[in-house]
Amino acid sequence: MKPNRDEVRAQILVVDDDPTAATATSSLLLELGYAVTVAHGWTDALRAFDPGSTDLVLMDAVMPNVDGLKLTRLLREQSASYVPMVFLTGLTSKEVREQCINAGADDFLTKPVDRLELRVRLKAMLRIRALTKALEVKSREFEHAARTDSLTGVGNRRVFDERIAVEISRATRHHRPLALLMFDLDRFKAVNDQFGHMAGDQLLALFGQVLRDQLRVTDVPCRYGGEEFMIIAPETTADQARVLAERVRREFARSTVDGPAGPQTVSVGIAGTDMIDAPPDRETLVLAADAALYQAKGRGRDRVEVGGTSPTQR
Ligand code: GH3
Ligand code: MG
Ligand code: MG
Repeated sequence: MKPNRDEVRAQILVVDDDPTAATATSSLLLELGYAVTVAHGWTDALRAFDPGSTDLVLMDAVMPNVDGLKLTRLLREQSASYVPMVFLTGLTSKEVREQCINAGADDFLTKPVDRLELRVRLKAMLRIRALTKALEVKSREFEHAARTDSLTGVGNRRVFDERIAVEISRATRHHRPLALLMFDLDRFKAVNDQFGHMAGDQLLALFGQVLRDQLRVTDVPCRYGGEEFMIIAPETTADQARVLAERVRREFARSTVDGPAGPQTVSVGIAGTDMIDAPPDRETLVLAADAALYQAKGRGRDRVEVGGTSPTQR
């Protein structure tokens, strides 16, 4: 009975501090067609274990110099992905088996290992591994979809609500600057009215692309609602945020020049914690960015304004 094609690619980590036993186990696994990595001790095992590529751990239950139970627990804790762990054991005591299961093991094989027994147990475990891995991928995709605005590809309102709270508390705790940039497309209703809702949607998607292209990895772009967008910019002063906003403003104008609705503009309002003389909170920041945006609209649109309540501003 040879492994099927999926299983051939399965990567098995053998943990055994006895080199002779480790070689015997790994030769058997290689014969059965698996890819094998051998770890002789604690550090070896932690280094070799990779939840992304290790599909199963086969560990000797009794290793004089390694506490297998502790190691199992540690590997489990370190891995967000579910990698089956099978113990090779000469011990048949139910208590020992219970301890192993409690530590995170999934199954046992009694030594000396019977070739067919090994083969079928691994097959069952690897099937669970494959299913779990597929579910983990799906779950990450759902998580991503639940946080992304599908039209523009930036974070949705939920991301804004979560991240603004996190970044405000981080900035406050470490006395670091934090900027909030609020964007509102200019005369966007006219685009919908003259060129249709589809053209409007395309413009929103393009703006989302511009935002994503202009940002540093630590900046968080979100769609706040309708044609309003936010960037949460950690470690950024209001002046530095102005540079970023100007870049987005110019790039949006440039990239829409040849579009169906002609050149488009965006107005930006910025609030920076360095411009606010009270401990920053979400409401103060959003209100200050909104007030600055209102000013930008009032001063003719297609421009960036910085708001705040610092003594120099009053
Ligand atoms: P201003 O320069 O003052 O911001 O003018 P404006 O026309 O952009 O502002 P207003 O708030 O009057 O219009 C916003 C428009 O955005 C109205 C709404 O129909 C449109 N809109 C909101 N969400 C979407 C969307 O998902 N797709 C499209 N196509 N239009 C949207
Ligand atoms: Mg608006
Ligand atoms: Mg608008």
